Parts: sequence; structure tokens; C-alpha cells
Amino acid sequence: QNHAPQTTHIFKSKLPEIPISNHLPLHGYCFENLSQFAHRPCLILGAAASKTYTYAQTHLISRKVAAGFSNLGIRKGDVVMILLQNSAEFVFSFLAASMIGAVATTANPFYTAAEIFKQFTASNAKLIITQAMYVDKLRHHDGTALGEDFKVVTVDDPPENCLHFSVLSDANENDAPEVEIRPDDAVAMPFSSGTTGLPKGVVLTHKSLTTSVAQQVDGENPNLYLTTEDVLLCVLPLFHIFSLNSVLLCALRAGSAVLLMHKFEIGTLLELIQRHRVSVAMVVPPLVLALAKNPMVADFDLSSIRLVLSGAAPLGKELEEALRNRIPQAVLGQGYGMTEAGPVLSMCLGFAKQPFPIKSGSCGTVVRNAELKVVDPETGRSLGYNQPGEICIRGEQIMKGYLNDEVATASTIDAEGWLHTGDVGYVDDDDEIFIVDRVKELIKYKGFQVPPAELEGLLVSHPSIADAAVVPQKDVAAGEVPVAFVVRSNGFDLTEEAVKEFIAKQVVFYKRLHKVYFVHAIPKSPSGKILRKDLRAKLETGAIQT
Ligand code: AMP
Repeated sequence: QNHAPQTTHIFKSKLPEIPISNHLPLHGYCFENLSQFAHRPCLILGAAASKTYTYAQTHLISRKVAAGFSNLGIRKGDVVMILLQNSAEFVFSFLAASMIGAVATTANPFYTAAEIFKQFTASNAKLIITQAMYVDKLRHHDGTALGEDFKVVTVDDPPENCLHFSVLSDANENDAPEVEIRPDDAVAMPFSSGTTGLPKGVVLTHKSLTTSVAQQVDGENPNLYLTTEDVLLCVLPLFHIFSLNSVLLCALRAGSAVLLMHKFEIGTLLELIQRHRVSVAMVVPPLVLALAKNPMVADFDLSSIRLVLSGAAPLGKELEEALRNRIPQAVLGQGYGMTEAGPVLSMCLGFAKQPFPIKSGSCGTVVRNAELKVVDPETGRSLGYNQPGEICIRGEQIMKGYLNDEVATASTIDAEGWLHTGDVGYVDDDDEIFIVDRVKELIKYKGFQVPPAELEGLLVSHPSIADAAVVPQKDVAAGEVPVAFVVRSNGFDLTEEAVKEFIAKQVVFYKRLHKVYFVHAIPKSPSGKILRKDLRAKLETGAIQT
């Protein structure tokens, strides 16, 4: 046996390390240079009611909302749930939570009542900020009357027992309490299923997010070079950390304007890009598809776009090429992220002030002030250049851990501080990262998370289902879709439609099953783990015995 110490191949950014002011609370860091751009546009509302908030106004209203939170009894460490589409109120609420040391948990407003309830109870939120049309989903779930255990604030006409957002935004900004915020205090808590199991609260601290934003936009030759002249497209939902961090927080730090769109509609998107001279577009592969293939694109002037950053899911080379032909003046590249990693692990260096050449399909190089390694998923041995393995990242930007879940935290962040992503990739000779596969359970539908364990839990709760497994199937439009393998209970008759409907009633649209295969048994390892690889292989080869 060879007991020689193993060499760890550590990959770093091509850009030099920079000093990062991660002792500041997140809002303080974002607004550190506010005086330089106080009267520049900060938030541009893209909907019919076009409105712009300057930096000074955004800062002031956020302070008022912080005072309003405090008036409603929200204290340091309390959790506020933001259940909103992209809107100015989302931004004010998020920044206000940071200002009083509270924690914002962000959720998809399209979630079903049951999905919202799970996140709401797991995070122990004291207040929900939402729209009137979602209130019914909060009201009926467990019979708790609104306003008893938690307060509900709506940004539009408040239904019974709810408060209007003006109770927050009309508060006196000087009433916001001075709180001491430490770098290790939580500020954001998106939910993610990570490498396995159910969605969990991802505790991101002030230090995690300031470090992550700094890694992208700070210093001499930043990964993502933004100026006060830039207008960033914010159509990806802010409840997902990619948009919250790489669009909103990065823009705030740099003094760029953020064009908020509450939903994706191609005609409106193109019109807004043209009207507001959008220069930087953060997108996901389905949006790249729309921009590359929709005939309407030819009718609009997209010459203002200089950067297109695609993230949250793999981007195919053909699609990348097709978009390049449509917007030839723009640098097009990818970012690679994971909620638990803060989220950005790597980014295309073509976005830097002095850009580096980049290869098609690459996710760029690891962000600065961080370390990345690639390990053999079986042995844990560190691998060198051009050898695919599990990507691991270490640095101040990663999450503190999962909320109230030490076991899941310890299986994701090891004793040496490495966060294991469950993604398989390699680093080429030019330090560029290529993601080639996933060893974790997660399914990604248009960049949205679909945790198989959640669907499996629902499936086996059906009286006619004895066992079930959910795996991804490749799909041109969505990237991946969830499909289920189901074992019927003895003697029970159950149709595919009935199973699909049973799930559809309980989950948000992108978690719906696209296909159900009835099988006699689910393949499992001796320890009882579902052999997902075997099921995926069966789908690919079509060798399914029902
Ligand atoms: P989320 O936590 O929802 O951001 O999902 C993170 C996961 O999305 C990663 O662990 C990857 O599996 C996938 N992902 C994100 N960005 C990329 C990318 N550029 N290429 C391939 N997969 C990606």
C-alpha cells in the first residue's frame, strides 16, 4: 500500500486576488459608493406603469421599510418571506431585511399552498410579503387565521387581515433601529435540495454574499465589468439566487440600472431591451433559445447588448452559436452556480474589463479569492487537468450551512471546508471549466430545481403506489423533465394520467411529471439507495420493462 500524501490540485482564477470588504453588512457593502451615483437610475420598472427609482430613492425607501419591519415587531435574526415576482417592493424588502439584521427567505409565488407552507414553516417566517392574489394559498392551508401567528403584507389592495405595503414604506426611516451585524450573520435563505433529499434552507451570510459579489464585480479587472452606464436585464426571478446575486446585488454595487420584468414574454422583453438600451442580459438556456430562434427578434434593435451571461443550467454549443449570430456585437458566455456556493463558482472571463478569449461550452474560470478542485467521486482523490470528476469549491462565499440540518451540511461541506457540488466537470489546460454531468439527484427544468425526493415522497403517499423513483429525461425545450418509475400496490389499478394528475395538483408547474412508467420493482443498492444511474440509462436506451 502506498501511504504517500496525496497531492491536491487546486485551481484558481486567472485574475489576481483582491482585498474584499466582507466585514461590511450586505446593504452597507452594496451602497458603499452610493454618493457617486445617488441620482442615477437604480430600478426601472418594465411593466406598463413605467417608473424609475434612483439610487437615493431606493436607499431611502429601503430604510423606511426597515423601520416598518421594526414597527411590526421584526427583530434581528427573524425571518421574512418574500413571495413576490420581480418588483421594486422585492428589492426594498430584501435590502430592508439586511438593514435590521433580519433574514429574507425567497420563494416562488407560483408555488402551491403546500409548497409555500413547507418553506414557511421550515424557515419559521414571521412575516410574508406578497400580492393579494396569492393570499388564498396562505389562508387555507393549515387553518391558521392570517395575522395570528404571522403577518401578511400585500403590495396591492390588501385582503382581509392583511396589511398594505405602505405600512412599511411610509414609516419614518429614522425609526429603523441600529443593529450590530456580524459578517457571519444570515441575510438570505433561499431553499435548495442540494445534492440529495428535500429542499432545505440555504443559510447565506452577509460575508457570503459580499464576498460573492466582490468576486464578480470588484477590483482592477473584474470578472464581470459593470459601470454606472450599464442597464441590466432582470427577467430571471429574484427568488432564485442567480438573479438576486449576479443581477441585483452586482448591479447595486456597481451603480448600474436594473430593468425589472415580472414575467417573461418575448415581445415585451424585446421592446424593453430596445427602449431602455439594455447592455447586460443575464439569461437561462430557454431564454437563449427564444432570443436565438424567435422570428420577432429581427424586428427589434438589440445593438445595445454587450454581454449575455447564461447560467443555472448547461447551454448547448449550437444554441450558443445561434445566439452569437443574432447578437454578433455581444460577448456571450456562461456562469456556473449553485445556490449553496453563494452561488457563483465560475464565470466566463470574456466579461472582464480586459477580456480573455473563451471557448464555446466553457463556464469560464473559478472566481477570484476562491479555490476549486475536482475529485474522483468514488475515491475522493484530487484530479488534475482534463480529468472529469466532482467539482468542489472553497472560499468565504459559500453557505454557512443548511438551516437546522447538521447532517446534510456535513455531507455537503467537508471538514476541510470544501463544498461538494454533485456536478461532474473538468478543468482544461487554459483553466476553463466544463460541466459534463451531474452525480446528484437534482433535475433542472429550464433552470428551475425539481428535487426527485420531493416527488417520490408524494408518489408513495398515494394509496395505490408501493414504490417510486423520479429521474430526469433530456428535453430540447426544458433541458430536462421529470419522469417517474412507479410500482403499483398489489391488486391496484392505476393509470398514467391518474398519477400525473395526483402530482400536478400538489406542485408548481415545472415539477409536473412528463411520463410515468409502471415497473415491477425500483432498482436499489444493497443499502436501499435508488440506482438512478440505471434508470437514466434505461431511459436513454429505451430498455424499460413494464
Ligand atoms: P441552483 O442551486 O438552483 O442554482 O442549481 C445549481 C445547479 O445547476 C448546479 O449544481 C448545476 O448542476 C446546474 N448548473 C448551474 N449552472 C450551470 C451551467 N452553467 N452549466 C451546467 N450546469 C449548471
